[in-house]
Amino acid sequence: VPALMVEGLAKVYGNGFEALKGINLTVQQGDFFALLGPNGAGKSTTLGIVSSLIQKTSGSASIMGFDVSKQAFDAKRHLGVVPQEFNFNQFEKVYDIVVTQAGYFGMTRKEAATSTEKLLRQLDLWDKRDQPSRMLSGGMKRRLMIARALVHGPKVLILDEPTAGVDIELRRSMWAFMQELNKSGTTIILTTHYLEEAEQLCRNIAIINKGHIVKCMSTRELLSQL
Ligand code: ADP
Ligand code: ADP
Repeated sequence: VPALMVEGLAKVYGNGFEALKGINLTVQQGDFFALLGPNGAGKSTTLGIVSSLIQKTSGSASIMGFDVSKQAFDAKRHLGVVPQEFNFNQFEKVYDIVVTQAGYFGMTRKEAATSTEKLLRQLDLWDKRDQPSRMLSGGMKRRLMIARALVHGPKVLILDEPTAGVDIELRRSMWAFMQELNKSGTTIILTTHYLEEAEQLCRNIAIINKGHIVKCMSTRELLSQL
């Protein structure tokens, strides 16, 4: 099965705005895929629907073969999402934020603890584990969102504008982290409005504009057309 499959997906918001006008996308397992487009193109709406946070208007989306609306729990179990904005409890401790997430997906306490420690060490947050999240720097908060997204061992990781507003050093280390993760078998899908980021990292790119997929092809092919 594909990691992600989207068919005829449309979204009309409550105010009547048509953010997605019937898009199709297939991302194979193991891919490193970019959804590239200008602000307002429909990237976050697409990812919101795929991660069961936004209700679609019509069409379908599935993760690892599980329909995101009819089989939301199974779809979410295979999916990690790193949103654009920090959306955790500012007073909760770093360790608790990550370990709690593992609990939602039926890991045992021991599995959750092992996975949490491993990720917090990998992402250089272990020393901060007892701090409330509001004490972290911007870069640490980003890394915390990644740890939380990965703690249940999802097959697919989605990142919404992962390096927007991030300094060069952190951008480099996040790129390296994503590349390692992809090498170890995790499918990665990110949104970006930087062609350079898509070009550096991704094997395949879909360009979205005004709620339509304009192009979808390998990075190499796309570059040869520019
Ligand atoms: P839905 O159709 O998914 O229920 P709504 O149209 O009710 O979405 O809007 C959900 C929230 O998003 C509301 O709080 C609304 O104020 C906010 N919102 C409205 N327009 C925009 C916009 N252009 N960009 C981002 N958020 C918006
Ligand atoms: P992108 O992530 O590519 O910047 P979005 O998916 O956030 O684009 O938004 C696509 C379009 O839908 C934009 O024009 C945005 O203003 C509009 N939009 C987003 N959320 C809402 C909402 N809740 N209500 C109405 N319009 C929205």
